[in-house]
Amino acid sequence: DKTQPKKPAWIRVKAPSGKGYAETHRIMRENKLVTVCEEAGCPNAGECWSQGHATMMIMGEICTRGCSFCNVATGRPDALDAFEPGRVAHAVKTLGLSHVVITSVDRDDLEDGGAEHFAQTIRAVRHQSPETTIEILTPDFLKCDNKVLEVVVEARPDVFNHNLETVPGLYPSVRPGARYFHSLRLLQRVKELDPAMFTKSGIMVGLGEDGQSVRQVMDDMRAADVDFLTIGQYLQPTPKHHAVDRFVHPDEFKAYEKAAYGKGFLMVSATPLTRSSYHAGEDFARLRDA
Ligand code: SF4
Ligand code: SF4
Repeated sequence: DKTQPKKPAWIRVKAPSGKGYAETHRIMRENKLVTVCEEAGCPNAGECWSQGHATMMIMGEICTRGCSFCNVATGRPDALDAFEPGRVAHAVKTLGLSHVVITSVDRDDLEDGGAEHFAQTIRAVRHQSPETTIEILTPDFLKCDNKVLEVVVEARPDVFNHNLETVPGLYPSVRPGARYFHSLRLLQRVKELDPAMFTKSGIMVGLGEDGQSVRQVMDDMRAADVDFLTIGQYLQPTPKHHAVDRFVHPDEFKAYEKAAYGKGFLMVSATPLTRSSYHAGEDFARLRDA
């Protein structure tokens, strides 16, 4: 095993504290909701939760995939909970969120991959909080009929996010079970189905990719009409997960950001601690009001 590079000073994580944090925690527990913030051990939880931002993860805590960067348990998931969309909607209302990010595990065990459950959750949030903008971060629906994507798009989320996660050359070791060009095509199809919908994608860096491949991914995304891009440093959740190849310097992130804007993305977040849901609401509001 390769020794892991030492964490540099710019990966600074604020400890969770404060009233806002506790309140978010309470509302999540009360509504029996799972958050990706906790599941992924996200370094931004202290900051996000104290402001009432949390990313909810629907369709259970067990994923049918086993991506090597991800801390979510792999196995056979439980049956879908028909009351979950209502509980998500209730939590969004209680937190008074202006923007919510909803994601899920992969459900290769379900014929529609959970598309209808996603759609129901979007509709439930919309119904209870009509002013809240909704961002979804979906699985790739790889094993489903093409039609299931329409079910999700027809529920009209404001932002449709699907992460490519890494460069194509690293898919076999980072995202086995996924297909780079399938994911890219999914993003393009969302735009074809609803040209007014914002699409978003992201990758992690520090997994062993080179800068040229990252720029190629940006080009591929733009060719698929992706609007927003996030790039963040990969952090290893446990020693059993994919190794960190290196810590990408903040200046390199700045260069990625500049290159991405040059390629025509409408919104780019590229910093070491960027996660696909980090500051998603503020960024989106700024864009909308611009
Ligand atoms: Fe949660 Fe996203 Fe914030 Fe991390 S960046 S704490 S996943 S909302
Ligand atoms: Fe984690 Fe998503 Fe991969 Fe499942 S599909 S292991 S939740 S990254």
